[in-house]
Amino acid sequence: MALGIQNVSKSYPNGVKALQNISLTIPPGMYGLLGPNGAGKSTLMRILATLQEPDEGTIYFGNIDVLRQKEEVRQTLGYLPQDFGLHPNARTEELLNYFAVLKGIKDNKARREVVEALLKQTNLWDVRHQKLGGFSGGMRQRFGVAIAMLGNPKLIIVDEPTAGLDPAERVRYLNLLSEMGENSVVILSTHIVEDVSELCTRMAVINKGQILLETEPHKAIENL
Ligand code: ADP
Ligand code: ADP
Repeated sequence: MALGIQNVSKSYPNGVKALQNISLTIPPGMYGLLGPNGAGKSTLMRILATLQEPDEGTIYFGNIDVLRQKEEVRQTLGYLPQDFGLHPNARTEELLNYFAVLKGIKDNKARREVVEALLKQTNLWDVRHQKLGGFSGGMRQRFGVAIAMLGNPKLIIVDEPTAGLDPAERVRYLNLLSEMGENSVVILSTHIVEDVSELCTRMAVINKGQILLETEPHKAIENL
């Protein structure tokens, strides 16, 4: 299922044109949205995650009209915002289990299995009883992936996830995302060129609310 974005525009009350007539077709796989601070990435990510409304435009995910069928989108959405605050005293497994309840995974046995599988995939099984407060940046981001992947979302939106990660953590993180999102549309917003060049199958460059380029990463880099 692809995500189709047509002629999406968004201005803020202060007159900032955060998005100007954006059109993109995003196929399954990892897709990079590359742009500097203030380019409009978070605005677009929040609109795709049904948290904000554009002034104009249409967005379809398969047959789902994203701007009108919000509940349908949310059932298949994994959203990892830029600064997700988690209580430092919360314990890893407990909290993931709690989010799984919120996601509607009610059967206890099924939920235990899902939580265990996600903690193992994100390499957090050994620290499942620890508090989040002691986690490194990489561990926190991997925990964010575990939360985002609950319920097998088909549309996964991650906003600037590698900020503050060291290079080794960054590569591990991107690999995790690309493996876990293999059969989904995964949109990764970032200002770091290497994030898109390493694992994204396609990419767009955004600046001042406009798409400057839409291509395969290796072609963009040849043209730099
Ligand atoms: P990015 O995620 O690429 O940094 P944003 O979408 O956060 O970009 O911001 C795009 C532009 O919109 C910036 O100029 C930013 O200051 C402005 N902006 C973002 N949110 C708001 C808001 N709530 N009110 C006014 N301006 C905003
Ligand atoms: P980003 O790192 O995505 O650019 P910012 O740090 O610019 O995000 O913005 C953080 C929050 O402040 C966001 O919720 C954004 O919508 C809001 N914001 C950003 N710019 C403005 C602005 N000029 N006026 C009001 N709110 C803003």
